[in-house]
Amino acid sequence: MTGTFVGMPAFPSAARAALADTQLRHNLAHATGVIRGKRAAVVGEVDNWEELRLAGAAVKERALLALDTQLVRLEESLTAHGAVVHWARDAEEANRIVVGLARAHEVDEVVKVKSMLTQEIGLNEALEAAGIAAWETDLAELIVQLGGDLPSHILVPAIHRNRAEIREIFARRMGEVGRPAPADLTDEPAVLAGAAREHLREKFLRARMAVSGANFAVADTGTLVVVESEGNGRMCLTLPEVLVSIVGIEKVVPTWAELDPLLRLLPRSSTGERMNPYTSTWSGITPGDGPQEVHVVLLDNGRTRALADEVGRQALRCIRCSACLNVCPVYERTGGHAYGSVYPGPIGAILNPLLRGTGDPQTDALPYASSLCGACFEACPVRIDIPEVLVHLRSQVVDGHREDRVPKPEAVAFRGAGWAFGDARRLDRAERLSSLAGRLLRRRGRTSLGRLPGPGSAWTDARDLPAPPTESFRDWWRRTDGGERP
Ligand code: SF4
Repeated sequence: MTGTFVGMPAFPSAARAALADTQLRHNLAHATGVIRGKRAAVVGEVDNWEELRLAGAAVKERALLALDTQLVRLEESLTAHGAVVHWARDAEEANRIVVGLARAHEVDEVVKVKSMLTQEIGLNEALEAAGIAAWETDLAELIVQLGGDLPSHILVPAIHRNRAEIREIFARRMGEVGRPAPADLTDEPAVLAGAAREHLREKFLRARMAVSGANFAVADTGTLVVVESEGNGRMCLTLPEVLVSIVGIEKVVPTWAELDPLLRLLPRSSTGERMNPYTSTWSGITPGDGPQEVHVVLLDNGRTRALADEVGRQALRCIRCSACLNVCPVYERTGGHAYGSVYPGPIGAILNPLLRGTGDPQTDALPYASSLCGACFEACPVRIDIPEVLVHLRSQVVDGHREDRVPKPEAVAFRGAGWAFGDARRLDRAERLSSLAGRLLRRRGRTSLGRLPGPGSAWTDARDLPAPPTESFRDWWRRTDGGERP
């Protein structure tokens, strides 16, 4: 899997840089606060929200546990409707299929519906390398693309940008790739949206091929579903002659009826709306109406690896609503780029290691990018227990380093602690030494240890380490006869 923003440092370094950016923190706090408020209001309207969550989780779980048969059913249904189904093991195979289709139709540009999966596999870059331009048509994606930027939120990829920055990007870049922004462009949201609409319209009308993802893929009817707010998706799905949809294999839902709870959970959790303004469904070809050639690429790219992890597989239930990002105190302060992937926030912290496997410094840092406060689990419409998976992945990261020739400082510290705790006399001696140090420090008027030297400074740079107690529990027990005497 690609999916890593190439060259990004691991989370601790990237987060430190992000924390120093006060404009970024202001933009994020404002945007996530607004979305949180909207979501809370519409979720509060639903009496049986918890039942709905349980129903949504059950639908996805059922599909995942029978993924092999559901996928074969999906392929049969799609094929019966005239779509061509392709299977791709990884990013490279999927990109090769899409580039091949573009070349076969001799197109030098495609329009795109917002799709995390195509970002995960680096499709735009693969198309560009083949001389084919890929135009993002979602407003926030367009801002990211024109700004030469990276997405930083699942739902609002340009959440880190404010209106003035967007105006500057449109004024500077639109003319270089198509219809320029009007000379009197202001930073009013309606004016910016109008400029984007004019810019994109000429691309919609010209492009002969579109690329989409899908929010859901219904196995029994062979229906792909995209939900969106702007209508750009519907334009992409209906105007071009050729439609290529790249779908992660975890998007399968067994039956049309089972879409119901998911289509109710998603808009309330993501945009804070009661329903999505546009819900587009397609199953293949309708003669004389819409694309006359439809290809569906079913992509694994690490998903079967995640499925094999009994604790982690629940992450594949994710419907990409972004509710967990909007309530996460870590995400709110660091933003999405710090996670180094198209999947940021709490879900990114578990999905990236599950899809790629642990073992490289960037991925290994992600399960630690959390305070384990549990807000993400409370917000998740399909009840993914993100804290549980985080802890599980942390243990995998630790296990992966057990054989390191140079152990990490934490490993050395814990080995020392294990040695001391493994014998009552050793522990007693260690406690006496610690009490002595505590008494000496307090005699000098110190209540904390201050900055530790060497690797210990990584801990004390960000936290206060209190001075040890002047009396150990055992000494207190002996002195007071277990609390019987003062
Ligand atoms: S993990 Fe849950 S809350 Fe987060 S994006 Fe996925 S479905 Fe939404």
